[in-house]
Amino acid sequence: MKQAVILAGGKGTRLQERLNGLPKPLVDIAGKPLLEHQILLLKRFGYSEVLLLVNHRAEYIENYCASNNNWGIGIHCINEGVARGTAGAIFSAFDLLHEEFLVVYGDTMLEVDLQRFEEFHHSYPNADATLFVHPNDHPHDSDLVEINSTSLITAFHPYPHKEGSYFQNLVNAALYCLKRDALKPWKDTPGLLDFGKDIFPAMLGQWQILRAYNSPEYIKDCGTPKRLDKVTSDYVSGRIERSGLYRKQKAVFIDRDGVINKEVSHLNSPQQFELLPNVGKAIKRLTDSEFRTVVVTNQPVVARGECSPEALQEIHNKMESLLGQEGAYVDRIYYCPHHPDKGFEGEVTELKIQCDCRKPNIGMVKQASTELNIDTAESWIVGDTSVDMLTGERAGLHSILVETGYAGLDGRYGVVPNFIVPDLNAAAAFILDDFPKLIALCEKIGKQVNTRDFVFIGGLSRSGKSNFAGCLRHSLNHNGKRAVILQIDRWLHNEVDRGDGVEGRYNTKELADILSVLTKRKEAIVLELPIYDKLNRRVSISGSRLQIEPDDIVIVEGTIALLFADNLGVQNSHKWFVEIDENQRSERVLKEYRLRGFSDEEAQSILITRQQDELPFIMKSAEKASIRVALHIGEVTAPQITFQQQNSL
Ligand SMILES: [Zn+2]
Repeated sequence: MKQAVILAGGKGTRLQERLNGLPKPLVDIAGKPLLEHQILLLKRFGYSEVLLLVNHRAEYIENYCASNNNWGIGIHCINEGVARGTAGAIFSAFDLLHEEFLVVYGDTMLEVDLQRFEEFHHSYPNADATLFVHPNDHPHDSDLVEINSTSLITAFHPYPHKEGSYFQNLVNAALYCLKRDALKPWKDTPGLLDFGKDIFPAMLGQWQILRAYNSPEYIKDCGTPKRLDKVTSDYVSGRIERSGLYRKQKAVFIDRDGVINKEVSHLNSPQQFELLPNVGKAIKRLTDSEFRTVVVTNQPVVARGECSPEALQEIHNKMESLLGQEGAYVDRIYYCPHHPDKGFEGEVTELKIQCDCRKPNIGMVKQASTELNIDTAESWIVGDTSVDMLTGERAGLHSILVETGYAGLDGRYGVVPNFIVPDLNAAAAFILDDFPKLIALCEKIGKQVNTRDFVFIGGLSRSGKSNFAGCLRHSLNHNGKRAVILQIDRWLHNEVDRGDGVEGRYNTKELADILSVLTKRKEAIVLELPIYDKLNRRVSISGSRLQIEPDDIVIVEGTIALLFADNLGVQNSHKWFVEIDENQRSERVLKEYRLRGFSDEEAQSILITRQQDELPFIMKSAEKASIRVALHIGEVTAPQITFQQQNSL
């Protein structure tokens, strides 16, 4: 029989205006007292005995429970008589405690997968207590918990913190699994006793084992009218219920160097760690949304012996502190300390191994997905290298390449990102604003696309057509219509082998052959995909294969896509054209060439050539399109999408 204790003695002085004379645990949240929400959660997870430690206006609570027949479980109200603090209240009821019990504070609204929490507590057999902890959006003025790599609590850092000190962003959220016997040394101590201030630090002082369960699930106190309103609106919107880890979660995996902080080769000290512009704002947007944020970073500096795990922890503490100053936090940080190549001076030999966690392996994504119950198909990875993009492809995440750090020009793997945006802030805007809007549009126009159809998506370079194609594929897949994308840019010729004009840049013959085979296919076809290496301006082998089933929809995306549509002679082909404001497009083209190492003049001259040979030619092909999608990109990247219909659908 599982036992829980609810600390229900609070007066709720700050909530008086909302209580109408009721004690704090009975404050209304969307038509039900807070206490009832808590009891129903406990009941759901098999707690059949609940001790209610009551004090202020105890009779109201007793009567409320009685009028609900104790919800069919064993509920015992114990009146402490005097206020003794959180721990003191429990000592008053010491003889009624089970060997192990759960503690819930009477002023918190929570939705926690209690079974996961208990399993975590039991996974370390000697744990005397497990505290539910989470990052918050104001760590600089919070009491913080420090843990080691096995989640053992090693220190408490009460507020105020010393100027210039960096800590992990972990806060005691007021939910505990406790062993009764571990509390024995203090059970007869008189007076007010608080778990956070008195008992946990004392337990640590006696070498007891305290563990921290770090979870992004909902747990918030409702002790002021403002907080109560926030909790109520979160409850009504369903956000609280969706946070329970028994439900699948959506996540954004974020690479560290070159995405969050400035790329510094072999970064090994907090002094070198500097956030990129707008990163705090970006992560705060994700934090405030319902996406879980997970940092996944390769740190071979540890294996090389250039950065100790302790120094790496300090670097991450600085990252969390800097983010915290902007109200942002990440739910988890995973790093791979390994490196596969042995035989260097100063290396840590045992870390020089082939591991599963070093990206593009997906060990870190898998671990996070288990720990946070992540639905990878609804999740994202944001990175600056082909390593991150391949990790995303292997793990089944949507991948977003940012043009900070290496900007995808690391040349390691031949992989095409699903989406490309300027930086992390634009990535957050894309995930939260643009993607849902584009999906809504694709849901609408995707209705006319049936299995086995071809969709040709043309547009000038950097007009947003590949991001659009990615959204279309997602939307079609979501509706049970499997779709694949052929990016025509994969078939660019080597710089030296190019013919005239736009078409001369591509291996159009091979592409036409492939499309012709695809139109006639009766069984699955596996394509070995080439890739054009933009940095070295030559064709290479990507190693990626694409399996195309007979019923798959084939999305052909690229500047010259619409030229192929006519030659193909297939019945069900759709011709769509994507465009953006020409000034914005020019800016994007210039930026891309600058990133690829061209000078301003060279970039300008390429742009002018492109405007002469590509623009009129491609815009003429737009006349063939049945749908023109105008993506108006706003201040950051919030586009207003208009839908143009040229001919009848
Ligand atoms: Zn590893």
